[in-house]
Amino acid sequence: MDAPEAKGAQPPMTGFAARAASWVESAADAVACIDAEQRVIYVNRAWCEMTGRESAACLGARVSEWRPFGGGTERVIAMIEQAAAGDRRVEGEIQSDAGAVLGVSVRPDREPDGAVAGYVVAVRDMSRYKEIERALRDSQTDFRTLADSSPDNIVRYGADGRATYSNPALLERLGAEREHLIGRRADESRTTDPEQTRVYQELVMRAITSGEAGHIDMNVRARSGEERIHSILIRAERDHRGDIRGAIAIGRDITEMVLARQALADKEREFRSLAENATDNIGRWDREGRLVYANPALAALFGAPLDELRGRRGIDLASTRFVDVAAAVARVIRFDHVETVETRFTHPMDGREHVHLVRLVPEHDDEGRLVSVLGIGHDISDIVRQRETLEHMARTDALTGVANRQLLYERAGDLFVDARARRVGVGLMLLDLDGFKHVNDRLGHRAGDDLLRMVSQRLQGCLRERDLLVRLGGDEFVIVVTGVHDRNDLSKLADRVRISLAEITAAGGSRFARVDASIGVAMFPQDGATMDVLLARADVAMYEAKRNGRGRMEHFRPELAVAMERRAAIEQELAACDFDAGSPAGFDIHLQPIFRLDDPPVVVAAEALARWTHPALGVVTPAEFIPVAEESGRIVQLGRWALQRSAEMAARCNAGRPTPLIVGVNVSTRQFALDDVVTATDEALALAGCDPSWLLIEITESLLLEDSMSVRNTLDALRERGVVIAIDDFGMGYSALHYLSRFPVDDLKIDRAFTAGIGEGARRTELVRAFVALAGALDLDVIAEGIETDDQLRFLQEIGCAHGQGYLLARPMPIGEFETFDRSRRTSPVA
Ligand code: C2E
Ligand code: CA
Ligand code: CA
Repeated sequence: MDAPEAKGAQPPMTGFAARAASWVESAADAVACIDAEQRVIYVNRAWCEMTGRESAACLGARVSEWRPFGGGTERVIAMIEQAAAGDRRVEGEIQSDAGAVLGVSVRPDREPDGAVAGYVVAVRDMSRYKEIERALRDSQTDFRTLADSSPDNIVRYGADGRATYSNPALLERLGAEREHLIGRRADESRTTDPEQTRVYQELVMRAITSGEAGHIDMNVRARSGEERIHSILIRAERDHRGDIRGAIAIGRDITEMVLARQALADKEREFRSLAENATDNIGRWDREGRLVYANPALAALFGAPLDELRGRRGIDLASTRFVDVAAAVARVIRFDHVETVETRFTHPMDGREHVHLVRLVPEHDDEGRLVSVLGIGHDISDIVRQRETLEHMARTDALTGVANRQLLYERAGDLFVDARARRVGVGLMLLDLDGFKHVNDRLGHRAGDDLLRMVSQRLQGCLRERDLLVRLGGDEFVIVVTGVHDRNDLSKLADRVRISLAEITAAGGSRFARVDASIGVAMFPQDGATMDVLLARADVAMYEAKRNGRGRMEHFRPELAVAMERRAAIEQELAACDFDAGSPAGFDIHLQPIFRLDDPPVVVAAEALARWTHPALGVVTPAEFIPVAEESGRIVQLGRWALQRSAEMAARCNAGRPTPLIVGVNVSTRQFALDDVVTATDEALALAGCDPSWLLIEITESLLLEDSMSVRNTLDALRERGVVIAIDDFGMGYSALHYLSRFPVDDLKIDRAFTAGIGEGARRTELVRAFVALAGALDLDVIAEGIETDDQLRFLQEIGCAHGQGYLLARPMPIGEFETFDRSRRTSPVA
């Protein structure tokens, strides 16, 4: 090629040369031919693209002037010069000004004589190759970094199935040197289980030949000699073209996990064998409340095999029987607490009601999350039955079998709520048997018990199903009547009750006197809103019934409560009163003269009557404070004080009196029961210097009704001393005439009520005559009480009644007044 000619159009080529030229022209590398003087004589298209110049602009230019590669051109010139010196092709890399890496090769073209004719310069843009190369190198480094620091075991195998790499983790675990593994096949190294090793090697080879991934759990002996379990994954490794280059095995020590799983399985097995053989009912629910396990005992209870039960929601089970358990399971899931429930149900096997105690315990995973609920239940039917019997006993009266006070109070809440809702009343009828004490005392406690049983039977017979009979204790009963619209409705029931009680006498022959009851009624809600208040008010009303003559019913009225309060105040004040001191504050004894009914009447005696004026309560009558003192027992002190004062008064009045004056003192039946009356009398007489014959003791018939030895002895002793004994209020009580002859009695005091009957009809008038005649027959003296009119006095005188007292003749008066009265009657003649 001639350089000057080359400057211009390129000569046309033919044949091979032409074809070659066309290849060069379309080659990917940039190709330029330069002459010996380094002038460009040819450039191909790629060259033009690389340098950004048309071929015409390149031709003829010297390389050194043209500087097609910027700074890199020096290097190309150096290479050309190097090529000129040698024979071989010179290769090198330069960097273009744009930063591209260019691979340059310069080949000299020589004449036959060896002189350089020119050069072919080929330039290739290496940038892409460089990038691929770097990526490849990087990926290698990445793999190493990853593999070297991975806690997993990593082994790489070449296409021949020999290890090319093992990461430090594995070497460390096995305690092996790199050389023991690298370049070897798995089955050539020392292993614990040759069979497993063979399978492993097969998997490696399969991955390499077919690309199929594999997995094996292998026993591997660790550095410590301990056998560990590795879970190993084997996969083919491919190059960037997707061709298989080898295989990689990634393994992990799963010994702990396997052991844990085994332990869990053991535990589960243990649980199962315990649960399956337990007589307790054991079930497990998942956190959705679905039954996931039921032991045979529980399955039998459910009446279905476990397979059928599994996954059923608690609520489904609930729809059949175990509502409370299902609800409790839901709560345990929700609140994550332990719960114990009692559940009652009809047992599928025997059809009887059973009670099970079920303990529900939340179960948690290692992180403390609730995963399930375990339920263990067992039959406590026997215990519950015992408990219920005890509870029943605690709520019933042992003697009569009816409800007791506790049950009454337990029912109260429901009763009242129900009554309010239905806008009806609840009637509380408090019954107190009249004269029960006498039955007990006269016929003995067995008879008393029999009577109480009969009474409760009769009462029960009067009630409707929904009413409640309660024995409060002693002879007190309560009937709770529900659904009362009008309190008068209760009157009919009260009548029925009293009639049926009266029938007891007929049924029991002559054993019991007529059985009757005093009834007090309190109504909910009018009279009180609580059982306590209602009972207290019914008691007030009952008390009123007793006061009004027993055998009747009284409704509570607010006035009664006032009286009740006064009674309570009296009791309190009596308790505070110091009778032992001799002159208790506010207390005094008045004397009411008793006359021999001559014409004119002559004072022969006086009745000592207690008087009490309290600074706050005002005048308190004996009718008010005596019953209270009797009830509280305070009558003992009060009675001794009255006895003492009466003896003193008797001594005082008899001093210098020509004829003896007898002072009568009232001694309550209760006092005989609680105190030693003989000793009290002796002391009073001695202390007062009173002759026993100046003292009269007034007792009531009720004392004689006791018919006891001790009463008889007491009266005998008193009589021996010369004390006079009178029966007070004669005719009011029990007409126990036959007792009169058996007790040492001197006088009969005819009750005021009979005196008042004189002239009030023949019958009542004749009754007084009969009393006087009777007393005469029994050789008893008679004192008529309560003479208020002249007619009464005259009649009594006519029929031969020896003595009398009453407002007509004289009222009770203080001792001073009495002395004056007595003296005046003795000295001055009476008109
Ligand atoms: P008693 O033994 O029947 O006493 C007679 C009562 O009749 C007295 O009432 C007296 O004041 C009253 N009285 C007398 N004459 C007439 C009359 O013409 N018309 C009317 N309407 N009443 C008359 P008092 O003093 O209120 O005593 C009531 C009851 O209290 C007594 O009834 C007696 O049982 C009891 N009592 C009074 N003082 C004592 C006492 O010191 N000890 C005991 N244990 N009881 C006493
Ligand atoms: Ca009296
Ligand atoms: Ca009397």
